[in-house]
Amino acid sequence: MRLRKRRLARHMHYHALREALTEPGCAIRTLSAAGVRRYAAAVVYTYANDPGVQRAVLRSRGWCVAHAWQLAGQTGAALDIAVLYRPALRALLDILRSRPAQDGADGSHRAWTWPRSALGPGGQAGVEPLARSLAPQGSCPACEV
Ligand SMILES: [Zn+2]
Repeated sequence: MRLRKRRLARHMHYHALREALTEPGCAIRTLSAAGVRRYAAAVVYTYANDPGVQRAVLRSRGWCVAHAWQLAGQTGAALDIAVLYRPALRALLDILRSRPAQDGADGSHRAWTWPRSALGPGGQAGVEPLARSLAPQGSCPACEV
């Protein structure tokens, strides 16, 4: 049974490659694009509420620019995409809210800069920890497909 499944899978890939070779352009790119299209449909329509998928999106801080636009353009499922992005956006907001309080007269104004007291001699030392915590902790989930 296991051998039969392996042969069937190889058989399917073989035919997919043969079909891709008949199309204009690079067959590998064609197959890769088809894989990403299948991934986009599956992740948006089936796994939008899956905690594992949401954790992957959280780690990567979303998809790379190319795949984010591909996801939106191919599926058009804005609500599901928003659901997938929600944990990542919340985490990023939590990180931004946890930064040192801005020097302000009434304390209510929080500019998108760090106070001078947090900056080092080069002016960027205090920003680096923030940049590191905002940066992706993993690669784009679609790039891994
Ligand atoms: Zn990507």
